[in-house]
Parts: sequence; structure tokens; C-alpha cells
Amino acid sequence: MFLEKAKYPMPTMNITQGYNQGTHAGAYALDMKGEDQGIDWVLAPFTGVIRKVDNASYGIWYWFESLEPVLCANGQQSYLTALFGHDNKQRHKVGDIIKQGERLCAEGTSGNATGNHCHMEIARGRFVTGGWYKNKQGVYMIYNAVRPNEYLCLPDAYRVINDGGLSWKKESQVALQNEVIDQVLHVGSKVELRGIYKISAVSASKNAVACNELADTPFLDYNYIDATPCIEVDKQGVATKDQVCDTGHFIKIPGVFTVLAVDKESNACKIKIGNRETWVKCEPCTEV
Ligand SMILES: [Zn+2]
Repeated sequence: MFLEKAKYPMPTMNITQGYNQGTHAGAYALDMKGEDQGIDWVLAPFTGVIRKVDNASYGIWYWFESLEPVLCANGQQSYLTALFGHDNKQRHKVGDIIKQGERLCAEGTSGNATGNHCHMEIARGRFVTGGWYKNKQGVYMIYNAVRPNEYLCLPDAYRVINDGGLSWKKESQVALQNEVIDQVLHVGSKVELRGIYKISAVSASKNAVACNELADTPFLDYNYIDATPCIEVDKQGVATKDQVCDTGHFIKIPGVFTVLAVDKESNACKIKIGNRETWVKCEPCTEV
């Protein structure tokens, strides 16, 4: 199988703000500039699909998920999801497919940005519903964030102005390692549910809740989730005081779950949450 190598998305590397600095507190975020103060293109780091676009007071943001697992700079094979921000113009909509190396967005100043640049984050695994969360430092960051320099390689001919003080692998140095987390679920795979999920139904008699994001038909018995291990949270993911799971409220589901069965047709898997076996969609699951 041909594996795409995930690549740094600009032909000139010029990193102006790195991990855990300033507005990136607690986040593996990079601010990227191109050749100069002008606006350069940001290219798709892999072949993927736009999964979410936010166009609000905090700027224009794209969540871009690889169509297939890609070969990462650290030798792992995984789906990746990239987040790009500050473009001045919305160039894509959800569902658009962009091939590796094609124009995805551009530097800009929309949202909280000083000077033209692009804010990038990389997540291991597929897009997680919601896209981002507020971390302890109050900074929004992508779910399942990883260090971009461990996952994106630098094509050998690239020009480097500022590498952000990070070590980057060149494309020619990247090779597949044995340890493979492919994000394709099989019986025995270990998964986490890392998102914040809105409760769409509650069954008091079952002490269980159901979420649209986790099941196509949440009201079916086998889609209900044991409420016992669930933590009720607010939209920012902070645990609520009352911990009474009501319809319309949000939950987190902590734990690592073993996949007991997979239904390829509906792309769903069976896991045991608390005392209840539940079918959930594969998409929100992150293989770990
Ligand atoms: Zn930034």
C-alpha cells in the first residue's frame, strides 16, 4: 500500500511562535510565516477532507482530516487531523477533498492575530466532534494534539528560515516502524472516547444516556451508555456540580475500552462502558 508522508505545509519554514509560548499556553501550536510579511499559501500536508470550518469573531479555522492513515515523521502510521487558523477568506467548505500539496488556505490576520501568519496544530487520529476544547490555561486547542515536528516531515529541498528551535526529520529520513496504530478498529483494539458529547436521550430505568454523535439511532437499547462512569460537564469540558445527566447536557466518557465487535457496514463498534455493552460509531473513537 502506498503511504503518504505527512509534510510541513509551507515551502518555506519560518516559525514565529512555538509550543506553550504566549497565546499557545499548554498547546502544541505553531505560528508559521512564509518568505516575508506578505501572504503565502498553506498547502495540504496530506490528502484529506475538510471536516469543520469555523468562521467567527475569532477568525477562520479549518479542521482537515487525512483520508487514509499517513506515514508520520516518527515512523508511525496514523490518521492525522490538522487545524489551520487566521485565513482572511473562507476557501473551503465541509466535505471538500484536497490532495497533498494543493492549496488549503493562506496566511492571514483574521481572529486574534498580529501580522500575517497561519496557526497550525496537528492531532493524531481522526477528527473528533467539536474539533477543539479549552485547556487548563484557557487556550482552545485541538483534541488529541501532538507535536507537529514529530509528525510532519520536511521535504529535502525546503528552505528553512526559522525551525522554531525544534528538530525536524527530512522526508528522506522517514521510514515506517513496526508499531502501528492505524485507527482502523478490530476486535481487541483499545479505544478512548475523547470528545464532549451532548445527551440526546436519558433512560432513568436503565441509568443510561444516549448521544446522537455516538450513535445513528441513539434511542435503540444497544446504543444507550451506562451513565455511571460518565462525567457531566459544561461546554468547556469542566465537570458540573450536580452531575445529574439530563437531555441537552454534556458528558465526557473517561476510560480505555476494548472493542468487542465491529460492524463494518455501519462503521460502528461494540464496547463495554461501565456495566453495559454499547454500540458506538467508530468515528468518534480514538485507537490508543
Ligand atoms: Zn497561534
